[in-house]
Amino acid sequence: MSQLPPKQPRRISFSLRLFWSVFAIFLAFITCFLIFQYQREREFAQEKLNIVLTNYNHQLYYRLAQSDDIKQTIEGFTVEIPQHDIRVTIISPDGKVIFDNSGVEHLDNHNNRTEVRKARSNNEGYSIRSSGSTGKRYFYSASNINNFIYRTALPYDMYVKDVLTINKDFIYFMLLMTLLFFVVLSRFTFSIGKTISKLRDFALNVDLNRIPEVRYTFPDDELGDISQNIITLYQQQQKAKDEVSMEREKLIKHFQYSKEGFAMFTADGKEILSNNLFIQYLNLISDNRIDQTEEALQIEELKPILYFLNSNIHNPNRKKQVLPEPVTIDKEGKIFQIECLLFLDNTYELSINDISRQEEETRMKRQLTQNIAHELKTPVSSIQGYLETIISNPELSEEKKRFFIERCYSQSSRLTDLLRDISVLNRLDEASDMFELSDINIGRLINEIQKECSKEMDEKRITSEIILPGDPSVHGNYSLLYSIFRNLFDNAIAYSGEGVLITVNCYREDSKFYYFSFSDNGVGIDEEHINRIFERFYRVDKGRSRKIGGTGLGLSIVKNGVNFHKGHIYAKSSLGKGVTFFFTIKKKI
Ligand code: ADP
Repeated sequence: MSQLPPKQPRRISFSLRLFWSVFAIFLAFITCFLIFQYQREREFAQEKLNIVLTNYNHQLYYRLAQSDDIKQTIEGFTVEIPQHDIRVTIISPDGKVIFDNSGVEHLDNHNNRTEVRKARSNNEGYSIRSSGSTGKRYFYSASNINNFIYRTALPYDMYVKDVLTINKDFIYFMLLMTLLFFVVLSRFTFSIGKTISKLRDFALNVDLNRIPEVRYTFPDDELGDISQNIITLYQQQQKAKDEVSMEREKLIKHFQYSKEGFAMFTADGKEILSNNLFIQYLNLISDNRIDQTEEALQIEELKPILYFLNSNIHNPNRKKQVLPEPVTIDKEGKIFQIECLLFLDNTYELSINDISRQEEETRMKRQLTQNIAHELKTPVSSIQGYLETIISNPELSEEKKRFFIERCYSQSSRLTDLLRDISVLNRLDEASDMFELSDINIGRLINEIQKECSKEMDEKRITSEIILPGDPSVHGNYSLLYSIFRNLFDNAIAYSGEGVLITVNCYREDSKFYYFSFSDNGVGIDEEHINRIFERFYRVDKGRSRKIGGTGLGLSIVKNGVNFHKGHIYAKSSLGKGVTFFFTIKKKI
């Protein structure tokens, strides 16, 4: 059964509540005022009538004081005044009715009548009530004169009602005021309500993490200013937040692409951020599997960093500066440089660098320099030796001199070759972007090499077969492509033996690469050497290579040239069956 959402209690808006609260107070005030005013007006009208009747009471007293005939005097009086139906009652101090013109015969004690009681205590008194004697309703007015009560009463008929009618103008005035107040208040609360509902709308958007698209405009008053300020402050804060998160994003991206393992931690060792390499390096360093970056300091090799952090994080006397702690770890042939930086707020970062490559490169460079020095030493000392012999033996025959000079020349050519090869490799290592690129036809390039080598090939009865289907053409560097094929030809001519066949074959082509094989069917290379022939200065037969004039750098240049053209090379051989080099060249680099 589907569940109905819980009913939300109907909410009354703030502006409506404000309106009704103020309006209710106003209405209560108006009602009280109307009741009070109505009461006052009524009392005023009654007192006005009472004054007329009190006046009659006193007139009666004076007239009766001068006359013995009560009845006649009173009848005369009632004829004189406009209200002929006036009832006149005279009550003795003990409450007995001495005279009454109502026609009722037996009248009881009148001291208990309201107006009489009032007159006894205040000299004057009035009341509107039904008569206990006649049963009719009257407006009574009693005056206490010498302890006798002179009472006149008017029947509560149209005339009295008319006299007692109060002026209702103030009611209409107050109603008009109420209406006016209603309009002004509703306009005022509507305007506040509009501002508040805009702010509410804005707050809801903010709560839902949406950037409000509308531009809020507020009335030109204090509330409007406050609202506008809130929104401006929020927008500024949001902008700052966006900028910070963008910077953070950049930083994280930077760390992800960095070649350095990196992680940041809170003072209690919780990860703030880290890159993938960090956990990978931790697993290379640790003997146990590490799943969380927080486990880093549990690794035995990183214990010095743990001690460093423990002794500094809780040390109140610690120097107020960022503290570094470097550690180098040599793990199964790999060398890691780890650095911990402890910041002032006790957060810390760990960075791990695999410096094995750097170390290896430094080692290789050192070896290369030694090799170069060694390679240069031989021709230089030969040249020096020959020249010394010529200089110290002036009596040497011309023939001998020529012989030594020719040796000098050949050694200096060797030096030139060596320096050329070293320079090519150096350029490939350090400034590969300096090689210019152009469209090169491979068939034409091989043809040229064939022509240049034809003399040596003929001498050794070497033949060649070039199979280049589709006439491959490459967008690459001419001199490097020339070096690749030239070195392979030179090597085949120099080492494979006599009467061999060299085959250059472009055996495959795909959208990006040409696939070449370069083979000879000569002496071949022993398996133990095949994996090392691309190393710099590696020679299978040192003596023979030097004698032939090889620098030991030929295949190194070939390999680097292929790599420059985004390709790969490997060699296959077995003794007596020749050598085949397989390599790829990218069509456009
Ligand atoms: P080098 O300058 O001595 O020729 P390379 O790097 O060009 O140096 O070659 C390395 C070694 O590989 C050579 O000394 C040679 O012994 C061997 N080699 C290269 N090509 C062939 C080949 N076609 N047949 C037999 N041995 C070869």
